[in-house]
Amino acid sequence: MTIDVSTILKELGGKIDINGDVEMSDTDFLGEMYHFNEPVKVSGSVSNNGKSLILKANCTGHMTTQCARCMKDIVVDIDFDIDENLAQDDGSVSSDDDVILFEDVKIDIDDIVANNFLMNVEGKYLCSEDCKGLCQHCGADLNEGDCGCSQENIDPRWAALVDIMEKDK
Ligand SMILES: [Zn+2]
Ligand SMILES: [Zn+2]
Repeated sequence: MTIDVSTILKELGGKIDINGDVEMSDTDFLGEMYHFNEPVKVSGSVSNNGKSLILKANCTGHMTTQCARCMKDIVVDIDFDIDENLAQDDGSVSSDDDVILFEDVKIDIDDIVANNFLMNVEGKYLCSEDCKGLCQHCGADLNEGDCGCSQENIDPRWAALVDIMEKDK
C-alpha cells in the first residue's frame, strides 16, 4: 500500500486519511509460523507536524498460526496500532533519529506494517486456555482423549531426588 503525501508534505498541520489493505507474506518469526489468509486492513492517518510526518494507524485482520501446546492450526485475530515518524530523505535527517525515511513523495507502508506486526505479535497462541497439549510420550493430542500413557510429569530438577528415594526403598 502506497501513500502519496505530496499534498501535505509542505503543509504544516496537513493530514490525509488512509484506509486500505496491506498484503502480508507468510512470516516465520522466532520459530513460529504466521500465515495471512487475507490482507491486513489499515486505517488511520498521516499528518504533518512541521518536523516530520506522523503515521498513526490501526491494523486488523486474521492469521493462521499454531497452538503453542497442541500444534493445531488456529485462526487468531490481529489488532495492533502503528505510530511512526516519517521524513523525506533529503540528507538532513540521520537514520538514528528514530524516523523512517522515504524517497520522493510516496511512502510504501507494507514494510512498516510488517515490522509493527512483529513488534506486537504475542509469540504464543493457544487454541483454548485449557488446551491439554500433546502427550510427551506418544505425541497424541490429549484434547481428543487419554492416550493411555502415564501422565506423571516429573520436573527434571526433582527427578534426581526421586532416583535417590527409589534407591533407598
Ligand atoms: Zn491447543
Ligand atoms: Zn501418550
